[in-house]
Amino acid sequence: MVEAVANIGVVGLAVMGSNLARNLASREGNTVAVFNRSHEKTDTLLSEHPEAEFVGTTDYAGFASALSKPRTAIIMVQAGKGTDAVIDELTKVFEPGDIIVDGGNALFTDTIRREKAVRETGINFVGAGISGGEEGALKGPSIMPGGSAEAWETLGPILKSIAAIAEGEPCVTHVGTDGAGHFVKMIHNGIEYADMQLIGEAYDLIRRGTGKSPAEIATIFEAWNKTELESYLIEITAEVLKQVDAKTGKALIDVIVDQAGAKGTGAWTVQTALDLGIPVSGIAEAVFARSLSSKPAQRAAASDLPGPTDKWTVDDPETFIEDVRLALYASKIIAYSQGFDEIVAGADEYKWDIHKGDIAKIWRGGCIIRAQFLNRITDAYADDPGLVALLTAPYFRTAIEGAQASWRRVVSTAAIAGIPSPAFSSSLSYYDGLRADRLPAALTQGLRDFFGAHTYKRVDMDGTFHTLWSGDRSEIESEGSSH
Ligand code: NAP
Repeated sequence: MVEAVANIGVVGLAVMGSNLARNLASREGNTVAVFNRSHEKTDTLLSEHPEAEFVGTTDYAGFASALSKPRTAIIMVQAGKGTDAVIDELTKVFEPGDIIVDGGNALFTDTIRREKAVRETGINFVGAGISGGEEGALKGPSIMPGGSAEAWETLGPILKSIAAIAEGEPCVTHVGTDGAGHFVKMIHNGIEYADMQLIGEAYDLIRRGTGKSPAEIATIFEAWNKTELESYLIEITAEVLKQVDAKTGKALIDVIVDQAGAKGTGAWTVQTALDLGIPVSGIAEAVFARSLSSKPAQRAAASDLPGPTDKWTVDDPETFIEDVRLALYASKIIAYSQGFDEIVAGADEYKWDIHKGDIAKIWRGGCIIRAQFLNRITDAYADDPGLVALLTAPYFRTAIEGAQASWRRVVSTAAIAGIPSPAFSSSLSYYDGLRADRLPAALTQGLRDFFGAHTYKRVDMDGTFHTLWSGDRSEIESEGSSH
C-alpha cells in the first residue's frame, strides 16, 4: 500500500497533464501523485524531474492510496471517452467527500451530466476549463472551475497557487455550479477564434493593400501591441510574421498551408449560441472562415471566378494601416460583447450565478486571449452589473465612436477590392443592426404571416395579429386578439 503523502493528484501525463503536475509540484507544500494509463509517460516524467515532489503510481488503487483525504485529483486526458473512462475508475477507488476535477476541454453539457452522476456517489465533481496551452499549464494558466461551493473551498487554494497572476491576483475564480466553468472556457475559445480571424484579416488587408512584407507587418503589430490592442495574440502575431523558414529562407508564413484546423470549441460556442438564440456573428464567421479555408477542392474550382476588374492600390498606406487597426479594435469589442452576451444567456438558462467582471479578470493572465482591455470589461460590469450589452458601456461606446469611420472605410474598401473580411464585415453589420431604429425584421414577420399564418405584433396596439393576405381577395383584413 502506498503511503498517503500527496495532497493532490494528476491523471493523464501527456503535454498538459505533465506540465500541470510540474506546476503543482513546484508550489510550496504540494506533493503530487501522478498516474497515466500507459506507464511510460509516468516513468518519463519521474526520471526527467527527479527534483519534483512526485509520487508515481501504476494503478488507480495505488493512486487513491497515495492521496491524503479528502482526495483531490485533476484529470488531464483526452476529452470525451477518455474522461468518462477515468471517472469510472476513480469513482471506484475514491470515497464520498473526495474531489475529481476534469481539467480537459469537455463540452459543458457533458460536464453537467458527469457532475450529476458523480454527485450521486457523494464524490464532488468539478469541471474546470484550463487555458494557456502547455506553457500556461507549466507556468500558470487561467483556470475556470465549476462545481459545488464545497469543492471550491478545498480546491480554491490549490488552484490559486498554480494559476497565472495578473496585477497581483490569481487568474482563477469559482465560475458557478456544474458545467459553468467549461461553459465559460468554451466562450473563451470562441472569442479566441474571433480574435485570431480579425488579426488574420488585418494582416491580409495590409499585405495586399500596401505590399509590405511579413517582416514589415510584424513591426506594425509590435507597434499595435503598445496601443489599446495590447494582447498576447497581437504579440505572437509579430513573432509569427518575423519568422524566417530555415529550409527556404522565405518568410515562414508564406510556406505554411493556408488551411486552418480546429478542435471544436469554436463550433460548440456557435452551436450553443444558436440554441440560446444569441447572435455571436463575429465568432461564427471566424469558425466558418476556418472551414472555408479547409475546402481545397472548392477553392481550386472557384479560383478563376471573376473578382474586381480594377487593380486595388492604397494611396496613403499610413492612414490605411491606422484604419485597419481601428477596425480591428472595434470588431474585437464586438466579439467580446457577443461572447459576454452568450455567457449571460447561458447563466440564465442553466441557473449559474456568473460574475462577468470576474471572468474578464481571470482572462487577464495565463490564457490565450489575455489582453490589456479586459480591465475595461471588468470596470464596465463593476460600474453597471446589469449592463445589457458590453459595447454600450461608456468606455466601449467612446472607443467605437472613435473607430467607426475607419471601420466603415476598411469594410467597404475590402468589399471593393475583393478581399474577404468576414469577421470585420459581420461585426460592423451586427453593430449597425443593434443600433438601427427599424429593422427589416418587420418584413420577415409579414412574410411569415403570409405563408404560414405565424402572426405578428403591431407598433401601435397590443395583441397578436394575422392578416388575410390579398391572394384572390380584394380586401386585407386584420384580426386582433390579446394574449
Ligand atoms: P491529449 O492528447 O488530449 O490526451 C492524451 C492523454 O489522455 C494521455 O495521457 C492518454 O493516456 C490519456 N487517455 C486517453 N484515453 C484514455 C483512457 N481511456 N483512459 C485513460 N487515459 C486516457 O492530451 P493533452 O494535449 O495533454 O490534453 C489533455 C486535456 O487538456 C485534453 O482534454 C485537452 O483538450 C485539454 N487541453 C489541451 C490544451 C493544449 O494546448 N493541448 C489546452 C487546454 C486544454 P495514454 O498515454 O495511456 O494514451
